[in-house]
Amino acid sequence: MTRLDELGEKAIVSDLIELFDPDGAHNLGDDCAVVDLGRDYLLVTTDIINRKTHIPEGAGSRDVGWHIAAINLSDIAAMGGQPLGMLFAFGLRGDAPVSDLTEISEGIRECCSNYAIPVLGGDTKESDVLTISGTAIGTVPKSEILWRKGAKPGDIIAMTGVLGKPMEWFRAKDPHKAQFLLRVVPRIREGRILAQSQAVTSCIDMSDGLSTSLHHLAKAGGVGLEVDFNRLLFAQGLSLEEKEHALHLGGDYELLFTVSPDRAEHVFNADFGTSPITQVGEVTEDTGVFILKDGATSQLPDKGYEHFGGSA
Ligand SMILES: [Mg+2]
Repeated sequence: MTRLDELGEKAIVSDLIELFDPDGAHNLGDDCAVVDLGRDYLLVTTDIINRKTHIPEGAGSRDVGWHIAAINLSDIAAMGGQPLGMLFAFGLRGDAPVSDLTEISEGIRECCSNYAIPVLGGDTKESDVLTISGTAIGTVPKSEILWRKGAKPGDIIAMTGVLGKPMEWFRAKDPHKAQFLLRVVPRIREGRILAQSQAVTSCIDMSDGLSTSLHHLAKAGGVGLEVDFNRLLFAQGLSLEEKEHALHLGGDYELLFTVSPDRAEHVFNADFGTSPITQVGEVTEDTGVFILKDGATSQLPDKGYEHFGGSA
């Protein structure tokens, strides 16, 4: 008997895609499920968190609620979509205080109302381990959708925000710093600007870290991606060692995308407000993922977060 934790999350997901979509007709494996509505695509995504793997002991329940809403909305943003609403399912112990559920739900409401998104439904069940599943739905005009596939040699690689914000929590695992991990900013507005620019050739949200996300875009596009370490923007106060670690740290949820040089001004001259976008590298003919550091280019291995054991 092979155990799930021997197989690892990536192999599990790839086996499931083979089972459910053997012909590749439904584009499984992107940030959202995509349904053809005619003029638009319907986007649907679901993500689950639980006390064992995602919710730090001692973390504030409102921060947990914000997190489950934000990480789902981030996947809609990654495809350039406008969210329409969300659903949530809770698994809770019967002896848990009612205030746990209330505070988690208040955090959900805070995140959703921040982006003017209604909560449309959900479910509650008893469960030994606190588990929360979120589902976000959205739409995007067909001509604007951002897929993971599509990067071409010569395209510019860019990202929103900074890398390594969750390091503040990972450093000491201090519950008072859990908000650095949980208070994810879903880049919905930025995703819409990128989609409308008609200049973005591929996009992903970096839920599992920069290195894994680069590998996803490279594989989906059949191209190579090279980033320049000195051009990456990191969260304030990171040591060099922490910056190197942050290349593989999950939880940033910034958008990583590629831009066609012909239309680059439609992205880089756009108004992103207080959250900057940064050019960090270039798409190459040679397949693989590379990093330029100290004047030398080397391969950047895929070492981002993986559930069920694996490379984590
Ligand atoms: Mg994603």
